[in-house]
Amino acid sequence: MDERYQRLTLFEFADFSKLREKSALVVGVGGLGATVAEILVRVGIGRLVIMDYDTLEMANMNRMIYKPNQIGKFKVEALSEYLLEINEQIDIVAHPFNITSGDGYKAFMDEVGKSDVIFGCVDTFGVRLFMNAKCVEQKRTFIDGGASLDGIRGSVQVVIPGKTACYRCHRHTLGLGKEKSEKTVSVKEDPMLYLELEEPGKDRQTGICHLTSLPTTMTIIAALQCQEGFKYLLEFGDVANYLMYNGIRGVIERYDWERDPKCPVCGEAKDKLDDEKLRKIEEAAKMFDEMTK
Ligand SMILES: [Zn+2]
Repeated sequence: MDERYQRLTLFEFADFSKLREKSALVVGVGGLGATVAEILVRVGIGRLVIMDYDTLEMANMNRMIYKPNQIGKFKVEALSEYLLEINEQIDIVAHPFNITSGDGYKAFMDEVGKSDVIFGCVDTFGVRLFMNAKCVEQKRTFIDGGASLDGIRGSVQVVIPGKTACYRCHRHTLGLGKEKSEKTVSVKEDPMLYLELEEPGKDRQTGICHLTSLPTTMTIIAALQCQEGFKYLLEFGDVANYLMYNGIRGVIERYDWERDPKCPVCGEAKDKLDDEKLRKIEEAAKMFDEMTK
């Protein structure tokens, strides 16, 4: 046995060696995604795919893992180097692509189909909606994580297609064509909506991002994404549909939403998403990206 996994074998709720047969895709490798990727490598995931088109800047140094001497490199390239230093046995695939268009889209769709779980670690609401739709379409489990604009709150949502509420279910406050119901999540209750819709994080003139980012909050959210991911992959515990972390109050709250039968992404009326529906989702995604630019 590889000595590096010795302490994991003592874990009584699951057999971590089964992770060697699993494949994970991490989209976005900033503060959240780089930490998710490191955790997956430390516990011995079989195959890890990382996707991000961004390059490193000095402003990224408040997050974990990256170093100033890597500035200018693609984040996926800098992260691959780091992860292979930790464990050269892991099969790591790095794609420096935007997943919503061109070659990046093709690579993303291909990798989703090959992955047991997809971790969403991006900072735009539109891309979250996009990933949710594509993971539901391919019936792959999607674990989204995000931190709020103020840097001290965040949330994790686990989408198991056909079983749990998807990322689009009940987010009727988006105004994407459904009426509010008593189950609608209010903007104030939902850190992701609050940050994207109420307080756009980028200066509209300059496009400069001024989102607060605390390494503490990012690491907590990344760890929660992985913890739920392990429970799903190794079939132990009770996978949470939605976890909300509030660092001001020092609490993590759990919500399990019912699926919305009228959800435009996972609604029962169409187990197979048609192209028209997907186009609408993508248009909505673009609209929200514009709002946060
Ligand atoms: Zn849904």
